[in-house]
Amino acid sequence: MRIVFLGPPGAGKGTQSQRLIQHFRIPHLATGDMLREATRQNTAVGRVAHDYMAAGRLLPDSIIIDLVCRRLKEPDCLNGYLLDGFPRTLPQAEALDRFLTESGSPLDAVLELKVDEDVLLQRLAGRGRDDDRPEVIRQRLIGYREQTKPLVEYYTTQGKLEPIDGMATPDAVFEQICDILDRRRNPSSLT
Ligand code: ADP
Repeated sequence: MRIVFLGPPGAGKGTQSQRLIQHFRIPHLATGDMLREATRQNTAVGRVAHDYMAAGRLLPDSIIIDLVCRRLKEPDCLNGYLLDGFPRTLPQAEALDRFLTESGSPLDAVLELKVDEDVLLQRLAGRGRDDDRPEVIRQRLIGYREQTKPLVEYYTTQGKLEPIDGMATPDAVFEQICDILDRRRNPSSLT
């Protein structure tokens, strides 16, 4: 199962990711985590990533694309993976597609976890983290929308986009996701 997971901060992507990787026994490729680990290990990528992350800016596409494609070649990705935080730009999505076409292993689905903005604001305010002040939250949500919109269009055109109603309970959301993935893998069960 090869999945890309899109969703704004506060949508519950973390919770659903954990369930998905356990259920399908696939690795969780979260680029934010990969970069933080690279920074901890002080690798060449980690040193570059540190400054971008501290400034809240995206890394140059070429660096992140290279990092992800190298990761995708590792043996644990043979049975699939959950990509989280990548792609974030159109060039990243296009590079991913080129890589996947060459390796003959297309994505199964792109999940977009959707939650109304007023609910996101409430959820994030409840967490009380430093970067969870209302003004900062609003900025992050605007940033997410701007970044993600072209990707949503790109994957809609490909027929890969699956909107998920993230307003339901965690169990109900997970059930929804599993149904959608089942149907994608086994289209005859549609009837
Ligand atoms: P968030 O806290 O917004 O969910 P992540 O943990 O996914 O962020 O990523 C943290 C930081 O890592 C980002 O702010 C960015 O600097 C960098 N990063 C992660 N993924 C990407 C990507 N696909 N392209 C460019 N930069 C990225």
